[in-house]
Amino acid sequence: MERQLEISIIVPVYNEEPNLQELYQRLTKTLTGIGKNYEIIFIDDGSSDASITLLQEFASQDPHVIAIKLTRNFGQHPAITAGLHTAKGRAVVLIDADLQNPPEEITKLYEKFCEGIDVVYGIRANRVDVGWRKSGSNFVMWLIEKLLGVKIPDDMISGFRIISHKVVAALNSIREQQYDTSIMMLWLGFSHAGVAVRHDSRNAGESKYTTWKLIYLTLDMLVGFSDFPLRAASIMGSVLALLSILVGLYMAIQKIVGIIDVPGYASIFVGITFLAGIQLLFLGIIGEYVARIHREMKGRPYYVISEVYTSIKEKLKIAAKG
Ligand code: UDP
Ligand code: MG
Repeated sequence: MERQLEISIIVPVYNEEPNLQELYQRLTKTLTGIGKNYEIIFIDDGSSDASITLLQEFASQDPHVIAIKLTRNFGQHPAITAGLHTAKGRAVVLIDADLQNPPEEITKLYEKFCEGIDVVYGIRANRVDVGWRKSGSNFVMWLIEKLLGVKIPDDMISGFRIISHKVVAALNSIREQQYDTSIMMLWLGFSHAGVAVRHDSRNAGESKYTTWKLIYLTLDMLVGFSDFPLRAASIMGSVLALLSILVGLYMAIQKIVGIIDVPGYASIFVGITFLAGIQLLFLGIIGEYVARIHREMKGRPYYVISEVYTSIKEKLKIAAKG
Protein backbone atom coordinates (compact mmCIF):
# COMPACT_ATOMS: atom_id res chain seq x y z
CA MET A 1 0.00 0.00 0.00
CA GLU A 2 2.83 2.34 0.91
CA ARG A 3 4.57 2.14 -2.45
CA GLN A 4 1.92 3.67 -4.67
CA LEU A 5 -0.04 5.74 -2.30
CA GLU A 6 -2.57 7.89 -4.15
CA ILE A 7 -4.01 10.28 -1.58
CA SER A 8 -2.55 11.80 1.60
CA ILE A 9 -4.75 13.94 3.80
CA ILE A 10 -3.06 16.45 6.10
CA VAL A 11 -5.06 17.74 9.06
CA PRO A 12 -3.55 20.19 11.57
CA VAL A 13 -5.29 19.78 14.91
CA TYR A 14 -5.26 22.25 17.77
CA ASN A 15 -7.83 21.56 20.49
CA GLU A 16 -10.38 20.04 18.12
CA GLU A 17 -11.57 17.18 20.32
CA PRO A 18 -15.34 17.60 19.65
CA ASN A 19 -14.78 17.63 15.87
CA LEU A 20 -12.39 14.73 15.41
CA GLN A 21 -14.74 11.75 15.49
CA GLU A 22 -17.09 13.20 12.87
CA LEU A 23 -14.17 14.45 10.78
CA TYR A 24 -12.51 11.04 10.80
CA GLN A 25 -15.76 9.26 9.88
CA ARG A 26 -16.62 11.65 7.05
CA LEU A 27 -13.05 11.56 5.70
CA THR A 28 -13.01 7.76 5.76
CA LYS A 29 -16.38 7.55 4.02
CA THR A 30 -15.33 10.01 1.30
CA LEU A 31 -11.97 8.32 0.72
CA THR A 32 -13.52 4.86 0.63
CA GLY A 33 -15.96 6.27 -1.93
CA ILE A 34 -13.11 7.52 -4.12
CA GLY A 35 -11.70 4.00 -3.93
CA LYS A 36 -7.98 4.80 -4.10
CA ASN A 37 -5.46 3.95 -1.40
CA TYR A 38 -4.93 6.73 1.08
CA GLU A 39 -3.41 7.87 4.36
CA ILE A 40 -4.73 10.42 6.83
CA ILE A 41 -2.03 12.33 8.68
CA PHE A 42 -3.25 14.17 11.76
CA ILE A 43 -0.80 16.57 13.35
CA ASP A 44 -1.59 17.41 16.94
CA ASP A 45 -0.23 20.92 17.37
CA GLY A 46 0.21 20.83 21.16
CA SER A 47 -3.48 20.51 22.03
CA SER A 48 -4.35 20.76 25.71
CA ASP A 49 -7.63 18.82 25.34
CA ALA A 50 -7.99 15.10 24.63
CA SER A 51 -7.42 15.43 20.85
CA ILE A 52 -4.26 13.30 20.94
CA THR A 53 -6.01 10.45 22.79
CA LEU A 54 -8.62 10.27 20.03
CA LEU A 55 -5.99 10.48 17.30
CA GLN A 56 -3.99 7.74 18.97
CA GLU A 57 -7.12 5.60 18.98
CA PHE A 58 -7.74 6.16 15.25
CA ALA A 59 -4.11 5.32 14.52
CA SER A 60 -4.15 2.13 16.55
CA GLN A 61 -7.31 0.80 14.87
CA ASP A 62 -6.82 2.02 11.34
CA PRO A 63 -3.67 1.47 9.28
CA HIS A 64 -4.64 4.47 7.11
CA VAL A 65 -4.05 6.84 10.01
CA ILE A 66 -0.80 8.40 11.18
CA ALA A 67 -0.97 10.68 14.21
CA ILE A 68 1.95 13.01 14.79
CA LYS A 69 2.21 14.74 18.13
CA LEU A 70 4.23 17.97 18.23
CA THR A 71 5.91 18.87 21.50
CA ARG A 72 3.96 22.12 21.86
CA ASN A 73 1.79 24.55 19.93
CA PHE A 74 3.84 25.71 16.94
CA GLY A 75 1.00 27.06 14.77
CA GLN A 76 -1.07 25.83 11.85
CA HIS A 77 1.62 26.26 9.19
CA PRO A 78 4.39 24.44 11.05
CA ALA A 79 1.88 21.65 11.72
CA ILE A 80 1.03 21.45 8.02
CA THR A 81 4.76 21.44 7.22
CA ALA A 82 5.22 18.44 9.51
CA GLY A 83 2.47 16.77 7.50
CA LEU A 84 4.09 17.69 4.18
CA HIS A 85 7.38 16.13 5.32
CA THR A 86 5.50 12.91 6.06
CA ALA A 87 3.00 12.65 3.19
CA LYS A 88 3.72 10.07 0.51
CA GLY A 89 0.64 10.38 -1.70
CA ARG A 90 0.53 11.47 -5.35
CA ALA A 91 -2.23 13.87 -4.34
CA VAL A 92 -1.93 15.67 -1.01
CA VAL A 93 -5.04 17.22 0.50
CA LEU A 94 -4.84 20.07 3.02
CA ILE A 95 -7.97 20.38 5.13
CA ASP A 96 -8.94 22.00 8.45
CA ALA A 97 -10.09 19.92 11.39
CA ASP A 98 -13.11 22.03 12.31
CA LEU A 99 -15.30 20.74 9.43
CA GLN A 100 -15.50 24.20 7.84
CA ASN A 101 -14.17 22.42 4.76
CA PRO A 102 -16.65 19.59 4.16
CA PRO A 103 -14.63 16.36 3.64
CA GLU A 104 -17.14 15.23 0.97
CA GLU A 105 -15.92 18.06 -1.26
CA ILE A 106 -12.53 16.34 -1.59
CA THR A 107 -14.14 14.23 -4.33
CA LYS A 108 -14.72 17.35 -6.46
CA LEU A 109 -11.19 18.63 -5.88
CA TYR A 110 -9.76 15.21 -6.70
CA GLU A 111 -11.70 14.97 -9.98
CA LYS A 112 -10.18 18.29 -11.05
CA PHE A 113 -6.73 17.19 -9.84
CA CYS A 114 -6.95 14.11 -12.07
CA GLU A 115 -7.10 16.42 -15.08
CA GLY A 116 -3.40 16.99 -14.39
CA ILE A 117 -3.47 20.25 -12.42
CA ASP A 118 -0.85 20.65 -9.69
CA VAL A 119 -2.77 22.86 -7.26
CA VAL A 120 -6.54 22.54 -7.01
CA TYR A 121 -7.99 24.82 -4.38
CA GLY A 122 -11.48 25.10 -3.01
CA ILE A 123 -13.23 28.38 -3.72
CA ARG A 124 -15.47 29.22 -0.81
CA ALA A 125 -18.65 30.04 -2.69
CA ASN A 126 -20.35 31.05 0.55
CA ARG A 127 -17.59 31.96 2.98
CA VAL A 128 -18.92 31.62 6.51
CA ASP A 129 -16.77 34.00 8.52
CA VAL A 130 -17.40 37.20 10.38
CA GLY A 131 -17.59 40.35 8.25
CA TRP A 132 -14.38 42.01 9.47
CA ARG A 133 -12.33 38.90 8.71
CA LYS A 134 -13.74 38.73 5.19
CA SER A 135 -13.06 42.41 4.42
CA GLY A 136 -9.71 42.22 6.25
CA SER A 137 -8.51 39.29 4.19
CA ASN A 138 -9.82 40.90 0.96
CA PHE A 139 -7.76 44.01 1.76
CA VAL A 140 -4.64 41.95 2.52
CA MET A 141 -5.05 40.01 -0.73
CA TRP A 142 -5.43 43.26 -2.66
CA LEU A 143 -2.26 44.59 -1.01
CA ILE A 144 -0.31 41.40 -1.78
CA GLU A 145 -1.44 41.51 -5.41
CA LYS A 146 -0.23 45.10 -5.71
CA LEU A 147 3.08 44.48 -3.91
CA LEU A 148 3.94 41.20 -5.57
CA GLY A 149 2.44 41.94 -8.94
CA VAL A 150 0.70 38.58 -9.00
CA LYS A 151 -2.96 37.82 -9.55
CA ILE A 152 -4.35 35.81 -6.66
CA PRO A 153 -7.20 33.68 -7.93
CA ASP A 154 -10.59 33.95 -6.25
CA ASP A 155 -10.25 32.97 -2.63
CA MET A 156 -7.19 30.80 -3.26
CA ILE A 157 -6.15 31.72 0.23
CA SER A 158 -8.66 29.24 1.62
CA GLY A 159 -6.57 26.43 3.06
CA PHE A 160 -8.63 23.66 1.47
CA ARG A 161 -6.76 22.21 -1.49
CA ILE A 162 -5.10 19.30 -3.24
CA ILE A 163 -1.49 19.63 -4.31
CA SER A 164 0.60 17.22 -6.34
CA HIS A 165 3.68 15.42 -5.01
CA LYS A 166 5.74 17.77 -7.23
CA VAL A 167 4.44 20.77 -5.29
CA VAL A 168 5.06 18.96 -2.01
CA ALA A 169 8.66 18.27 -3.05
CA ALA A 170 9.14 21.93 -3.99
CA LEU A 171 7.64 23.13 -0.70
CA ASN A 172 9.76 20.66 1.26
CA SER A 173 12.92 21.97 -0.37
CA ILE A 174 12.25 25.50 0.89
CA ARG A 175 14.40 26.34 3.89
CA GLU A 176 12.41 29.37 4.91
CA GLN A 177 10.67 29.11 8.23
CA GLN A 178 7.56 31.17 8.02
CA TYR A 179 5.79 31.50 4.74
CA ASP A 180 2.27 31.42 3.49
CA THR A 181 1.74 28.20 1.55
CA SER A 182 -0.89 29.77 -0.75
CA ILE A 183 1.32 32.62 -1.87
CA MET A 184 4.33 30.30 -2.06
CA MET A 185 2.45 28.02 -4.45
CA LEU A 186 1.78 31.01 -6.71
CA TRP A 187 5.41 32.05 -6.40
CA LEU A 188 6.56 28.53 -7.33
CA GLY A 189 4.45 28.86 -10.45
CA PHE A 190 2.64 25.52 -10.63
CA SER A 191 -0.54 25.10 -12.66
CA HIS A 192 -3.60 25.81 -10.57
CA ALA A 193 -7.36 25.83 -10.75
CA GLY A 194 -10.22 26.46 -8.37
CA VAL A 195 -13.33 24.43 -7.73
CA ALA A 196 -16.37 25.84 -5.92
CA VAL A 197 -16.86 24.08 -2.61
CA ARG A 198 -19.19 24.52 0.32
CA HIS A 199 -17.87 26.37 3.33
CA ASP A 200 -19.64 25.49 6.56
CA SER A 201 -19.46 27.23 9.88
CA ARG A 202 -17.10 25.79 12.48
CA ASN A 203 -18.60 22.58 13.88
CA ALA A 204 -17.55 23.04 17.52
CA GLY A 205 -15.18 25.26 19.44
CA GLU A 206 -13.87 28.66 18.44
CA SER A 207 -11.42 29.91 15.84
CA LYS A 208 -7.85 29.33 16.99
CA TYR A 209 -6.82 32.65 15.51
CA THR A 210 -6.72 35.73 17.65
CA THR A 211 -6.52 39.14 16.03
CA TRP A 212 -2.82 39.36 16.93
CA LYS A 213 -2.03 35.99 15.36
CA LEU A 214 -3.75 37.20 12.17
CA ILE A 215 -1.77 40.47 12.20
CA TYR A 216 1.52 38.56 12.58
CA LEU A 217 0.57 36.18 9.78
CA THR A 218 -0.20 39.15 7.53
CA LEU A 219 3.13 40.76 8.42
CA ASP A 220 4.91 37.49 7.62
CA MET A 221 3.19 37.42 4.27
CA LEU A 222 4.08 41.03 3.39
CA VAL A 223 7.65 40.96 4.70
CA GLY A 224 8.31 37.43 3.46
CA PHE A 225 7.32 38.08 -0.13
CA SER A 226 8.00 41.75 -0.75
CA ASP A 227 10.82 44.28 -0.36
CA PHE A 228 8.40 47.10 -0.94
CA PRO A 229 8.01 48.15 2.72
CA LEU A 230 11.79 48.76 2.82
CA ARG A 231 11.73 50.58 -0.47
CA ALA A 232 8.82 52.67 0.80
CA ALA A 233 11.20 54.14 3.40
CA SER A 234 13.52 55.42 0.64
CA ILE A 235 10.59 56.78 -1.35
CA MET A 236 9.02 58.47 1.67
CA GLY A 237 12.43 59.81 2.78
CA SER A 238 13.12 61.29 -0.65
CA VAL A 239 9.70 62.89 -0.89
CA LEU A 240 10.00 64.43 2.58
CA ALA A 241 13.55 65.67 1.90
CA LEU A 242 12.40 67.28 -1.35
CA LEU A 243 9.43 68.85 0.42
CA SER A 244 11.64 70.28 3.15
CA ILE A 245 13.98 71.82 0.53
CA LEU A 246 10.99 73.43 -1.17
CA VAL A 247 9.60 74.75 2.13
CA GLY A 248 13.08 76.00 3.05
CA LEU A 249 13.39 77.82 -0.28
CA TYR A 250 9.94 79.32 0.16
CA MET A 251 10.87 80.63 3.61
CA ALA A 252 14.19 82.03 2.36
CA ILE A 253 12.39 83.91 -0.43
CA GLN A 254 9.87 85.25 2.06
CA LYS A 255 12.76 86.50 4.22
CA ILE A 256 14.52 88.12 1.24
CA VAL A 257 11.40 89.96 0.01
CA GLY A 258 10.85 91.17 3.55
CA ILE A 259 7.80 89.31 4.71
CA ILE A 260 8.52 88.47 8.32
CA ASP A 261 7.01 85.15 9.12
CA VAL A 262 6.42 84.30 12.76
CA PRO A 263 4.92 80.82 12.83
CA GLY A 264 3.57 79.39 16.05
CA TYR A 265 5.18 76.46 17.80
CA ALA A 266 2.25 74.22 16.81
CA SER A 267 3.50 73.81 13.24
CA ILE A 268 7.03 72.97 14.45
CA PHE A 269 5.66 70.53 16.99
CA VAL A 270 3.47 68.81 14.39
CA GLY A 271 6.40 68.71 11.97
CA ILE A 272 8.73 67.11 14.51
CA THR A 273 6.24 64.51 15.74
CA PHE A 274 5.27 63.68 12.17
CA LEU A 275 8.87 63.07 11.17
CA ALA A 276 9.62 61.17 14.39
CA GLY A 277 6.56 59.00 13.72
CA ILE A 278 7.65 58.27 10.15
CA GLN A 279 11.20 57.46 11.30
CA LEU A 280 10.00 55.11 14.01
CA LEU A 281 7.60 53.46 11.60
CA PHE A 282 10.39 52.68 9.15
CA LEU A 283 12.74 51.67 11.91
CA GLY A 284 10.03 49.22 12.92
CA ILE A 285 9.68 47.96 9.35
CA ILE A 286 13.45 47.42 9.10
CA GLY A 287 13.16 45.67 12.48
CA GLU A 288 10.58 43.27 11.03
CA TYR A 289 13.08 42.24 8.36
CA VAL A 290 15.99 42.04 10.81
CA ALA A 291 13.94 39.90 13.20
CA ARG A 292 13.22 37.49 10.35
CA ILE A 293 16.87 37.37 9.34
CA HIS A 294 17.66 36.63 12.98
CA ARG A 295 15.07 33.85 13.08
CA GLU A 296 16.32 32.26 9.85
CA MET A 297 19.96 32.58 10.95
CA LYS A 298 19.35 30.61 14.12
CA GLY A 299 18.12 27.75 11.96
CA ARG A 300 15.92 26.27 14.65
CA PRO A 301 13.49 23.59 13.53
CA TYR A 302 10.11 24.83 12.41
CA TYR A 303 8.41 22.18 14.54
CA VAL A 304 9.50 19.40 16.88
CA ILE A 305 7.89 15.96 16.90
CA SER A 306 7.31 14.29 20.23
CA GLU A 307 5.64 11.06 19.09
CA VAL A 308 4.36 9.34 15.96
CA TYR A 309 1.46 6.91 16.35
CA THR A 310 0.71 4.39 13.65
CA SER A 311 -0.41 0.78 13.50
CA ILE A 312 1.89 0.15 10.54
CA LYS A 313 4.79 -2.07 11.57
CA GLU A 314 7.31 -0.40 9.32
CA LYS A 315 9.34 2.02 11.38
CA LEU A 316 8.55 5.54 10.29
CA LYS A 317 11.53 7.68 9.74
CA ILE A 318 10.31 11.16 10.33
CA ALA A 319 12.88 13.75 11.19
CA ALA A 320 12.06 17.12 12.63
CA LYS A 321 13.10 19.27 9.74
CA GLY A 322 13.69 22.96 9.91
N1 UDP B 1 -4.61 25.09 14.01
C1 UDP B 1 -3.41 24.52 14.42
N2 UDP B 1 -2.58 25.26 15.24
C2 UDP B 1 -2.90 26.54 15.64
C3 UDP B 1 -4.10 27.10 15.18
C4 UDP B 1 -4.94 26.35 14.36
O1 UDP B 1 -3.09 23.39 14.09
O2 UDP B 1 -2.10 27.13 16.36
C5 UDP B 1 -5.51 24.28 13.15
C6 UDP B 1 -6.94 24.14 13.67
O3 UDP B 1 -7.08 23.06 14.57
C7 UDP B 1 -7.72 23.94 12.37
C8 UDP B 1 -6.95 24.79 11.37
O4 UDP B 1 -5.65 24.95 11.92
O5 UDP B 1 -7.68 22.60 11.94
C9 UDP B 1 -7.63 26.11 11.11
O6 UDP B 1 -7.84 26.79 12.34
P1 UDP B 1 -9.17 27.61 12.63
O7 UDP B 1 -10.36 26.83 12.15
O8 UDP B 1 -9.18 27.99 14.06
O9 UDP B 1 -8.95 28.88 11.72
P2 UDP B 1 -10.07 29.75 10.96
O10 UDP B 1 -11.02 28.81 10.28
O11 UDP B 1 -10.73 30.56 12.02
O12 UDP B 1 -9.27 30.56 9.99
MG1 MG C 1 -11.88 27.19 10.90
